[in-house]
Amino acid sequence: MKRKATLGVALVFLLAAGCGQTSLKQKIIPLNQAQATPDHPPIYNYSGWVIARAVLHNHTTYSDGCRTPEDLAQMARDQGIAVLGISDHREGQICLGKGLCYDVGGVDSPKVGYQKYYEHISRLAQDSQSPIILFGIETMPYIWVERRFGTVLGSGANNHFTSWGIYDPEVYEQMPARKQMELKVEKNPGAEPYAKWVDYLRDHGGLVFIAHPDIADDSWRLILHHKAPSPYYLIPELARLTGVALVPDGMAETAQPGGAWDEGQFQYLAGFRPEPLWGWGESDYHCDPPPLSHGITCFT
Ligand SMILES: [Zn+2]
Ligand SMILES: [Zn+2]
Repeated sequence: MKRKATLGVALVFLLAAGCGQTSLKQKIIPLNQAQATPDHPPIYNYSGWVIARAVLHNHTTYSDGCRTPEDLAQMARDQGIAVLGISDHREGQICLGKGLCYDVGGVDSPKVGYQKYYEHISRLAQDSQSPIILFGIETMPYIWVERRFGTVLGSGANNHFTSWGIYDPEVYEQMPARKQMELKVEKNPGAEPYAKWVDYLRDHGGLVFIAHPDIADDSWRLILHHKAPSPYYLIPELARLTGVALVPDGMAETAQPGGAWDEGQFQYLAGFRPEPLWGWGESDYHCDPPPLSHGITCFT
């Protein structure tokens, strides 16, 4: 039992440190009132195109961001952003087996819950003339213990997806996504559990994107080696995936000529994929000082 407990603490530590940033709660940083003037209005014409500036995939104090949803909306307003996508982490708790859970501060926890998160963000969206606020969630749908202690642990912890367009918290409550790792070593399940989860959300009217597709995890923490490939390996396997975040963390591999994004488009042309695969930019904003910067997407 002691060994299991040690393993559990180690796994939680590894998962919390996944994705290049901690999944643990941060302190709230109040918004500094001094703001720069936007370099563009939220919507403008450029060379015959109507450009609406959007910043997607942002975190708030509902997970590991440092800004309240209100302050995040104010930042977007100050910056001349037309569309703000808020997608806090789902994972409120990471569990090893049924009993050993650790609070990592996301939406799906007894303290918060989808309903409360949804009501808050939708109230904010209703009150906001500008920006338009999109409600979303970032999820790691499937995690497992792949190999033995001292080598690879907590696999799947950097396979992150953002989903949008679901307005019934019950749909998120019921989604087929793992909340816990089994107390045993498991084989890599391949794309199957991810495809099941993507199909479920698409069947309920959602849009699903792979987040930061080129970010792999290959790190040592004390004696523990956590090694997981970049999530883009899943792209060709997920026929109903809506799209992939290309900017900024998909530019090295996924968006290259012949990369996973191209592969997805060829699948569409060849009839293996029902829709073209969208590419978009994401911010993955957590705590930096304003402005919201990299990964700005322009909707046209
Ligand atoms: Zn992420
Ligand atoms: Zn994120």
